[in-house]
Amino acid sequence: MAHTATERRKAPQSVDVRGCPVFRWRLSSSSITDEVICRLPPQLITYVIHTDGKIQRRTPKEITPGFEETIAYIYLDQSGHNHDLGKYCFIEARRHLPGNVEVEGSVRLIDLRKVHKKYKLGNVSYGFTLNTSRYYIGDVALASLFGAMLEAGYDDVVCNGFSDHLGHSVGGSSSHVNGTNGDFRYLRNDGTVGPLHLAEAEGKPHLLDEERQAVFIEALYRFGWKSMLSYRYVIDGKEKLLKRTRHFRNHHHHLHLQGYAPLVEDIHD
Ligand SMILES: [Zn+2]
Repeated sequence: MAHTATERRKAPQSVDVRGCPVFRWRLSSSSITDEVICRLPPQLITYVIHTDGKIQRRTPKEITPGFEETIAYIYLDQSGHNHDLGKYCFIEARRHLPGNVEVEGSVRLIDLRKVHKKYKLGNVSYGFTLNTSRYYIGDVALASLFGAMLEAGYDDVVCNGFSDHLGHSVGGSSSHVNGTNGDFRYLRNDGTVGPLHLAEAEGKPHLLDEERQAVFIEALYRFGWKSMLSYRYVIDGKEKLLKRTRHFRNHHHHLHLQGYAPLVEDIHD
């Protein structure tokens, strides 16, 4: 269709495979027939994860239709580079107190099965696997987990889960509500990702990678988990307990994260 200078042009809009709106039109000059494509990123809630533990929640004035229940995660590394960690859909659930007691308010939960299990660009990377049926993590807690995993840069993190799709604590524990308390296997020093018991009958504390575990715990602490539970263990006749953790029964095979109090800054664009 020919356009005159005064005629307002409208480009037909479609959406590409990544969900970005795409506008296509042809230049009006009869001598130029190249197609012009304008691709605009969708406007959606975006969490920007800073290395100091801060999480900025950026909410645009208008959210692109279709992205009302999607959150984008960006990691801002030490040198100021952005890392696109993906866009994830959330579901809303009722807020709960420990013991699955319903209270006022709602929480946003993201399915960890859909979260990219690996990321690597330059020397910024993470890698994790799931060993759980408690697949749902809170939207902010996911930002914290990304931050902690990227700071540590390990590829053998094993998550033993957070909550179920209702935000309930399931499987024998009562505190894993709202997708904020999580469990993780201890990190091993033998290059494998199997379970590791620090004590009791199957205890192999010499396989604990104390150095890497300490780095991961510090990162988890900075990104919001102010309290953690683990278990006393003995190496070379010396009793030890991981820094920033408390000894608690049944925690000889996993680190438990709780006391979630992240530093969140809200920005309305
Ligand atoms: Zn736990």
